[in-house]
This record gives sequence, structure tokens and C-alpha cells, in this order.
Amino acid sequence: MIPNDFIQTLLSRVDIVEVIDRHVPLRKAGANFVACCPFHSEKTPSFSVSPTKQFYHCFGCGAHGTAIGFLMEHAGKSFPDAVEDLARDAGLEVPRVEREGDKERREEAADLSGILLAAARFYRAGCARRPTPSTTSSRAVSPARLRRVSASAMRRMAGKAWPPHSPSTRIPRSRPRAS
Ligand SMILES: [Zn+2]
Repeated sequence: MIPNDFIQTLLSRVDIVEVIDRHVPLRKAGANFVACCPFHSEKTPSFSVSPTKQFYHCFGCGAHGTAIGFLMEHAGKSFPDAVEDLARDAGLEVPRVEREGDKERREEAADLSGILLAAARFYRAGCARRPTPSTTSSRAVSPARLRRVSASAMRRMAGKAWPPHSPSTRIPRSRPRAS
């Protein structure tokens, strides 16, 4: 989460006139800057940017906001992206604060990855163990044994076509009932 006081600092360090002028060329009109509104279609400018208040406001459609709001509304940026962009321009680094529950969630994730790691080690240790005469009778099939089995099975099948019906899967026909 981005701390609120950083947002305030950031807004005081950037100039909304410069930010908006990059997207919508502004013209000075008295104390403010104006342009045709980028948020609605118009021929005479009712979009006004105040350098003293650091706000934009449209008297035509009511669009209103800060430099961050403008980047979100006009450039379609997310709030963190808009903050990140402005901070980069201002030479500031965006600080992050932890939200409630972040620490717990991180610990849970660490626990889970620990379990997965242990399971992976256990599995690898099991696979690495070579079958010895005393363990070949066990029902566990090592990957190496499985590969040997499939190779010999494939060699057997290579010369034969699949039988159209194996006796075990053939559906028995119903016989005419003896009356
Ligand atoms: Zn407008």
C-alpha cells in the first residue's frame, strides 16, 4: 500500500500543468490554463487547470481531479502506476507499507513452499534409490523400471495390430429368450 502522506508529498512536488500539458496542450488564460476538454467533445475550452490549487476542472462535463486522477482518467493508468510515473518524474521513490494481514499471508506462503520443497526432496530421494534384489518385489515402480516396461511393451506391440475386440470388452448380444 502507498502511504497517504507520500501521495501528498508527490502532489506537492509535481506540477499538474506540466503533467497535463504533455497529453493536452494547455494555453494560459489569466491565473489558470485552459484547453478543449479531453473528456468530452467541445469547440470552446471549458477545461481549466489551476497551478495554485493543482486541480483540473471541466465546466462542461464536471471532470475534476489531481495529476494522479488525470493520468488514471486520461491515460487509463491504475492508481499505483500513475503514482509510480509521477514519482519517477519527480525523482522520488515510492515507499510501500504493509497492509494488515500481509505478514501472515507471506508466512503461510513460506510454510506451503517449505512443504512442497520437502515433498519434492522426498520424491527425488525415492526415485534415486535403485531397485535392489530385495526391493524389486516391492510394488513401487521406479521411473527406470517403468521405462523398461514400456519399452518392452512397445516392442511387443510393434508387430501386432490391436485386436478389433478383446474378449473382455465385447458386449454380449442378448439372446432370444427361450420360451
Ligand atoms: Zn469536459
